[in-house]
Amino acid sequence: MKRNVSLEEISDGKLYTANDMVKADCHGCVGCHTCCTGMGDSIYLDPYDAFNLTVNLNVPFMALLEKYVALGMADGVILPHLMMTGPDEDCNFLDSEGRCSIHSFRPGICRLFPLGRVYEKGDFKYFLQTGECVYKNPTKVKVSKWIDLKDPKENHDFIIKWHDFLESVRENIKSETDPENIKAINMKVLTSFFMTPYEEERDFYTQFNERLKSF
Ligand code: SF4
Ligand code: SF4
Repeated sequence: MKRNVSLEEISDGKLYTANDMVKADCHGCVGCHTCCTGMGDSIYLDPYDAFNLTVNLNVPFMALLEKYVALGMADGVILPHLMMTGPDEDCNFLDSEGRCSIHSFRPGICRLFPLGRVYEKGDFKYFLQTGECVYKNPTKVKVSKWIDLKDPKENHDFIIKWHDFLESVRENIKSETDPENIKAINMKVLTSFFMTPYEEERDFYTQFNERLKSF
Protein backbone atom coordinates (compact mmCIF):
# COMPACT_ATOMS: atom_id res chain seq x y z
CA MET A 1 0.00 0.00 0.00
CA LYS A 2 1.26 3.50 -0.81
CA ARG A 3 2.02 5.85 2.06
CA ASN A 4 1.68 9.62 1.86
CA VAL A 5 4.97 10.35 3.60
CA SER A 6 8.44 11.19 2.38
CA LEU A 7 11.16 8.55 2.59
CA GLU A 8 13.20 10.92 4.75
CA GLU A 9 10.45 10.94 7.40
CA ILE A 10 10.23 7.16 7.81
CA SER A 11 13.62 5.76 6.82
CA ASP A 12 17.35 6.16 7.24
CA GLY A 13 17.34 7.89 3.85
CA LYS A 14 19.11 5.04 2.04
CA LEU A 15 17.91 2.70 -0.68
CA TYR A 16 19.09 -0.90 -0.67
CA THR A 17 19.38 -3.70 -3.22
CA ALA A 18 19.10 -7.40 -2.36
CA ASN A 19 22.91 -7.59 -2.11
CA ASP A 20 23.31 -4.71 0.36
CA MET A 21 23.73 -4.99 4.11
CA VAL A 22 20.99 -3.36 6.20
CA LYS A 23 20.57 -2.88 9.96
CA ALA A 24 17.41 -4.97 10.27
CA ASP A 25 18.40 -8.18 12.04
CA CYS A 26 16.43 -8.49 15.28
CA HIS A 27 17.82 -11.96 16.06
CA GLY A 28 14.72 -14.12 16.02
CA CYS A 29 12.35 -11.60 17.66
CA VAL A 30 12.77 -13.45 20.99
CA GLY A 31 9.70 -12.78 23.15
CA CYS A 32 8.38 -10.12 20.78
CA HIS A 33 5.47 -10.11 18.35
CA THR A 34 4.80 -6.38 18.29
CA CYS A 35 4.63 -6.18 14.51
CA CYS A 36 2.09 -9.04 14.42
CA THR A 37 -0.49 -7.00 16.35
CA GLY A 38 -2.39 -3.80 15.71
CA MET A 39 -1.41 -3.64 12.06
CA GLY A 40 -4.98 -2.93 10.91
CA ASP A 41 -5.45 -3.74 7.24
CA SER A 42 -1.87 -2.92 6.25
CA ILE A 43 -0.56 -6.44 5.58
CA TYR A 44 -1.88 -6.93 2.06
CA LEU A 45 -1.38 -10.23 0.30
CA ASP A 46 -0.21 -10.84 -3.23
CA PRO A 47 -0.82 -13.92 -5.40
CA TYR A 48 2.43 -15.55 -4.22
CA ASP A 49 1.15 -15.27 -0.64
CA ALA A 50 -2.17 -16.79 -1.74
CA PHE A 51 -0.31 -19.68 -3.37
CA ASN A 52 1.87 -20.29 -0.29
CA LEU A 53 -0.98 -20.09 2.20
CA THR A 54 -3.42 -22.29 0.30
CA VAL A 55 -0.83 -24.92 -0.66
CA ASN A 56 0.87 -25.15 2.73
CA LEU A 57 -2.33 -25.03 4.79
CA ASN A 58 -4.10 -27.21 2.22
CA VAL A 59 -7.21 -25.05 2.19
CA PRO A 60 -9.03 -23.13 -0.54
CA PHE A 61 -8.54 -19.36 -0.47
CA MET A 62 -12.21 -18.86 0.50
CA ALA A 63 -11.58 -20.79 3.74
CA LEU A 64 -8.91 -18.25 4.73
CA LEU A 65 -11.56 -15.53 4.56
CA GLU A 66 -13.38 -17.13 7.50
CA LYS A 67 -10.62 -16.44 10.04
CA TYR A 68 -7.29 -15.27 8.72
CA VAL A 69 -7.85 -12.92 5.82
CA ALA A 70 -10.23 -10.02 5.08
CA LEU A 71 -10.81 -7.91 2.00
CA GLY A 72 -9.97 -4.23 1.99
CA MET A 73 -9.35 -1.28 -0.29
CA ALA A 74 -5.68 -0.87 -1.21
CA ASP A 75 -5.24 2.39 -3.10
CA GLY A 76 -8.48 1.89 -5.00
CA VAL A 77 -8.32 -1.87 -5.63
CA ILE A 78 -9.96 -4.51 -3.42
CA LEU A 79 -7.30 -6.93 -2.18
CA PRO A 80 -6.99 -9.46 0.64
CA HIS A 81 -5.06 -8.57 3.80
CA LEU A 82 -4.25 -10.38 7.04
CA MET A 83 -7.03 -10.15 9.62
CA MET A 84 -6.24 -8.74 13.08
CA THR A 85 -8.71 -9.68 15.85
CA GLY A 86 -9.25 -9.62 19.63
CA PRO A 87 -8.55 -6.94 22.23
CA ASP A 88 -4.90 -6.66 21.15
CA GLU A 89 -5.72 -6.92 17.46
CA ASP A 90 -3.55 -9.99 16.98
CA CYS A 91 -2.85 -11.61 13.65
CA ASN A 92 -4.76 -14.88 13.75
CA PHE A 93 -1.65 -16.75 12.65
CA LEU A 94 0.01 -16.05 16.00
CA ASP A 95 0.16 -19.21 18.12
CA SER A 96 -0.41 -19.47 21.89
CA GLU A 97 3.30 -18.70 22.49
CA GLY A 98 3.04 -15.50 20.48
CA ARG A 99 5.04 -16.94 17.59
CA CYS A 100 4.12 -16.99 13.92
CA SER A 101 2.55 -20.37 13.17
CA ILE A 102 3.28 -20.03 9.44
CA HIS A 103 6.80 -18.64 9.69
CA SER A 104 8.29 -20.64 6.80
CA PHE A 105 5.59 -19.50 4.39
CA ARG A 106 4.60 -16.15 5.94
CA PRO A 107 3.40 -13.40 3.60
CA GLY A 108 5.87 -11.21 1.74
CA ILE A 109 5.18 -8.09 3.82
CA CYS A 110 5.98 -10.05 7.00
CA ARG A 111 9.22 -11.28 5.43
CA LEU A 112 10.22 -7.75 4.54
CA PHE A 113 9.46 -6.04 7.87
CA PRO A 114 10.99 -3.62 8.86
CA LEU A 115 11.98 -3.10 5.23
CA GLY A 116 9.68 -1.64 2.63
CA ARG A 117 9.85 -1.26 -1.15
CA VAL A 118 10.15 1.86 -3.30
CA TYR A 119 9.24 1.46 -6.96
CA GLU A 120 10.88 3.54 -9.67
CA LYS A 121 11.68 3.22 -13.36
CA GLY A 122 10.24 -0.27 -13.76
CA ASP A 123 12.15 -1.70 -10.79
CA PHE A 124 12.22 -1.40 -7.01
CA LYS A 125 14.64 -0.94 -4.14
CA TYR A 126 14.29 -1.56 -0.44
CA PHE A 127 14.26 0.98 2.37
CA LEU A 128 14.55 0.57 6.13
CA GLN A 129 11.54 1.83 8.09
CA THR A 130 13.14 3.36 11.14
CA GLY A 131 11.16 3.36 14.38
CA GLU A 132 8.99 0.38 13.34
CA CYS A 133 10.82 -2.62 14.85
CA VAL A 134 11.05 -2.29 18.64
CA TYR A 135 14.28 -4.34 18.88
CA LYS A 136 16.88 -2.10 20.48
CA ASN A 137 20.12 -2.99 18.70
CA PRO A 138 19.47 -4.53 15.30
CA THR A 139 22.59 -5.73 13.51
CA LYS A 140 23.49 -5.76 9.84
CA VAL A 141 22.21 -8.51 7.59
CA LYS A 142 22.21 -8.95 3.82
CA VAL A 143 18.82 -7.91 2.46
CA SER A 144 18.39 -11.17 0.50
CA LYS A 145 19.20 -13.20 3.62
CA TRP A 146 16.70 -11.23 5.66
CA ILE A 147 13.89 -11.79 3.15
CA ASP A 148 14.97 -15.41 2.77
CA LEU A 149 13.20 -16.47 -0.42
CA LYS A 150 14.16 -19.67 -2.22
CA ASP A 151 13.56 -18.09 -5.63
CA PRO A 152 14.74 -14.44 -5.32
CA LYS A 153 15.18 -13.70 -9.03
CA GLU A 154 11.78 -15.09 -10.05
CA ASN A 155 10.18 -13.37 -7.07
CA HIS A 156 11.77 -10.02 -7.96
CA ASP A 157 10.34 -10.23 -11.49
CA PHE A 158 6.95 -11.28 -10.13
CA ILE A 159 6.85 -8.36 -7.65
CA ILE A 160 7.46 -5.87 -10.46
CA LYS A 161 4.85 -7.48 -12.72
CA TRP A 162 2.26 -7.53 -9.93
CA HIS A 163 2.98 -3.90 -9.03
CA ASP A 164 2.68 -2.77 -12.67
CA PHE A 165 -0.47 -4.84 -13.11
CA LEU A 166 -2.12 -3.26 -10.04
CA GLU A 167 -1.17 0.21 -11.29
CA SER A 168 -2.91 -0.50 -14.60
CA VAL A 169 -5.98 -1.84 -12.76
CA ARG A 170 -6.06 1.34 -10.66
CA GLU A 171 -5.96 3.48 -13.81
CA ASN A 172 -8.75 1.38 -15.27
CA ILE A 173 -10.89 1.78 -12.17
CA LYS A 174 -10.21 5.53 -12.04
CA SER A 175 -11.51 5.95 -15.56
CA GLU A 176 -14.71 3.99 -14.80
CA THR A 177 -17.85 5.80 -13.67
CA ASP A 178 -20.21 2.82 -13.46
CA PRO A 179 -19.99 1.19 -9.97
CA GLU A 180 -21.03 -2.15 -11.49
CA ASN A 181 -18.05 -2.09 -13.83
CA ILE A 182 -15.72 -1.21 -10.93
CA LYS A 183 -17.16 -4.11 -8.96
CA ALA A 184 -16.63 -6.41 -11.94
CA ILE A 185 -12.97 -5.37 -12.30
CA ASN A 186 -12.31 -5.99 -8.61
CA MET A 187 -14.04 -9.37 -8.75
CA LYS A 188 -11.99 -10.35 -11.77
CA VAL A 189 -8.73 -9.51 -9.96
CA LEU A 190 -9.77 -11.47 -6.87
CA THR A 191 -11.03 -14.44 -8.86
CA SER A 192 -8.10 -14.60 -11.27
CA PHE A 193 -5.25 -14.24 -8.79
CA PHE A 194 -6.59 -15.34 -5.39
CA MET A 195 -9.78 -17.39 -5.48
CA THR A 196 -9.01 -19.70 -8.39
CA PRO A 197 -6.95 -22.51 -6.81
CA TYR A 198 -3.27 -22.81 -7.71
CA GLU A 199 -1.86 -26.20 -8.61
CA GLU A 200 0.53 -27.31 -5.89
CA GLU A 201 2.68 -29.42 -8.19
CA ARG A 202 3.22 -26.62 -10.72
CA ASP A 203 5.62 -23.69 -10.37
CA PHE A 204 3.83 -20.60 -8.99
CA TYR A 205 5.49 -18.11 -11.35
CA THR A 206 4.42 -20.05 -14.45
CA GLN A 207 0.83 -20.12 -13.18
CA PHE A 208 0.94 -16.40 -12.34
CA ASN A 209 2.27 -15.48 -15.78
CA GLU A 210 -0.49 -17.54 -17.43
CA ARG A 211 -3.14 -15.76 -15.38
CA LEU A 212 -1.63 -12.37 -16.11
CA LYS A 213 -1.57 -13.09 -19.82
CA SER A 214 -5.18 -14.19 -19.91
CA PHE A 215 -6.54 -11.38 -17.66
S1 SF4 B 1 8.86 -5.63 16.20
FE1 SF4 B 1 10.91 -6.31 15.54
S2 SF4 B 1 11.61 -7.69 17.18
FE2 SF4 B 1 9.41 -7.44 17.45
S3 SF4 B 1 8.50 -9.16 16.29
FE3 SF4 B 1 8.59 -7.42 14.88
S4 SF4 B 1 10.53 -7.66 13.77
FE4 SF4 B 1 10.65 -8.96 15.62
S1 SF4 C 1 1.60 -13.98 9.37
FE1 SF4 C 1 3.05 -14.38 11.00
S2 SF4 C 1 4.64 -12.82 10.77
FE2 SF4 C 1 2.86 -12.14 9.61
S3 SF4 C 1 1.70 -10.83 11.01
FE3 SF4 C 1 0.86 -12.90 11.18
S4 SF4 C 1 1.94 -13.87 12.88
FE4 SF4 C 1 3.12 -12.05 12.24
